[in-house]
Amino acid sequence: MKYIGAHVSAAGGVQNAPLNAHKIGATAFALFTKNQRQWQAKPLTETEINAFQANCQELGFSPEQILPHDSYLINLGHPEAEPLAKSRAAFIDEMERCQQLGLIYLNFHPGSHLKKIDENDCLARIAESINLAHQATEGVIAVIENTAGQGSNLGHRFEHLAAIIEQVDDRSRVGVCLDTCHTFAAGYDLRSWESSEQTFAEFEAIVGFEYLKGMHLNGSKSAYASRVDRHHSLGQGNLGMAVFEYIMADPRFDGIPLVLETIDESLWPEEIALLASLAQAA
Ligand SMILES: [Zn+2]
Ligand SMILES: [Zn+2]
Repeated sequence: MKYIGAHVSAAGGVQNAPLNAHKIGATAFALFTKNQRQWQAKPLTETEINAFQANCQELGFSPEQILPHDSYLINLGHPEAEPLAKSRAAFIDEMERCQQLGLIYLNFHPGSHLKKIDENDCLARIAESINLAHQATEGVIAVIENTAGQGSNLGHRFEHLAAIIEQVDDRSRVGVCLDTCHTFAAGYDLRSWESSEQTFAEFEAIVGFEYLKGMHLNGSKSAYASRVDRHHSLGQGNLGMAVFEYIMADPRFDGIPLVLETIDESLWPEEIALLASLAQAA
């Protein structure tokens, strides 16, 4: 079973996200559980939590179909002590919010070295941040997203993801989300069935599909190996449709949220229907 959806708005409260997902025909969704551009958020209320869970239940969204995303401000590999501590505290708060909502995943961008520490040091800090979050919370899986490798962001090589996972104590609570645009922009080709096969074989060899907990399905405005993060609509830009046909036909992508972050929200119903038809035809 393929769970297909988009990163929907939670404006007005988290309980609106499942409603917004249902409206576009989604069987999966991503959301921010707080304003993604602010450090502080007021705690979720009992009313919001109950309404979120009631809406999810009524509309058929189980925790396996939901991929919350953390704030963009958080850098779990920050080179400096004070901002690192601030990021770690904010990440634990995000994990707690997921736990309160009964959710099992939290998707995040690994972190940036800001050209002040080397890659290995930064990767070790990210792993330690995950360990600290695990100790402070229960049940939620930290889902590391691969990046395009823009600026000093790590996570653009499968080896980075593997190095973080290797240093996590509780590997039952760490996973990976692959973004098709980021993967392609990072220099892994996905423009044909054959290149998709090869890229995912490399992922299997270096990280392993047992860690794959979600996908972001995006076209790419960025050029191949440009290390620039610019999404496009499905089938538009430099990526084409082959990789989406490949994913929809492959059972290794069953049972996890497959989430659009494509740039034209008005196309989401069509894009979801197209992906569902590819899954059906496979
Ligand atoms: Zn993404
Ligand atoms: Zn992106």
